[in-house]
Amino acid sequence: MAHPIVVKTPDAARAACDAARARGERVGLVPTMGALHEGHLALVKEARRHAGFVMVSIFVNPTQFGPNEDFGRYPRDLASDVAKLDGVSVVFAPEVSAMYPAGEETRVHVGALAAHLCGPHRPGHFEGVATVVTKLFAIAGACTAVFGKKDYQQLAILRRVATDLFLPVDVIGFPIVREADGLAMSSRNAYLSPEERGKALSLSRGLSAAARAFGGGERRAGTLRDLALGEVQRGATSIDYVTIADADALVPFDDGADVGPRAVLAVACRIGTTRLIDNVVLGEDEDPVPGAPGE
Ligand code: AMP
Repeated sequence: MAHPIVVKTPDAARAACDAARARGERVGLVPTMGALHEGHLALVKEARRHAGFVMVSIFVNPTQFGPNEDFGRYPRDLASDVAKLDGVSVVFAPEVSAMYPAGEETRVHVGALAAHLCGPHRPGHFEGVATVVTKLFAIAGACTAVFGKKDYQQLAILRRVATDLFLPVDVIGFPIVREADGLAMSSRNAYLSPEERGKALSLSRGLSAAARAFGGGERRAGTLRDLALGEVQRGATSIDYVTIADADALVPFDDGADVGPRAVLAVACRIGTTRLIDNVVLGEDEDPVPGAPGE
């Protein structure tokens, strides 16, 4: 397996992408924070389908973490991440000072798409994400960028950023990669004790319960939400939200509303001290729990 070269500066990353385009190759970009798992590797494979040259960025971005979040203890192991990557030309792994040099002060403001779901619970988070990804888009230049639907709100916001700022980037969303029992893969799963790992199944089980009801014809927002909430409450230490929302505008439905043919059901909660998120697009995604009892 051919390992990628590692570059540390925006100039070197840009030069590598420019050279690829000059050779006639499409550039694929997969932004990550490292601690790579099968979910990330699936995004890389998807990028390879679209691009001859793939750049994976590995950067734990300080501006998207709140003061009491896990920036300091987020897992970092560049050598083992690089060893996992196949079919990748370049890993861009900058220091914080390279992405945020002295004197920098520009931020990308995010609008209504950040008003619900994770937005109110993580003030400044999506501005940090939008800012760092805009920098990555500017460095990579014209490209196809692949993001996971695991971070559904992030994906919606980044599509908006690319459109609104006329960036030459095709944003592609890739389905959530799950463990065999349904748990959505996440770098943060490494924080879970064995007991918490069991409790973490409450997220996918909650989404599955609602997905099965939806499959059986249930369309009342409050009923679908409460089915998920009931399961999530069994495992969660605390719940940020269990919300059913318009799948594009991300505006929550009122409890009495009919959700129609397609809606996103999203969860954020803590298992112990670890904050996990998960979602399902009802009317579009498969049941998140494989082999869950059908109707
Ligand atoms: P992160 O390293 O957590 O910032 O994630 C980097 C990218 O991988 C984001 O686009 C995530 O949405 C995506 N990702 C993370 N976990 C998964 C997963 N289980 N399935 C699909 N994509 C994922």
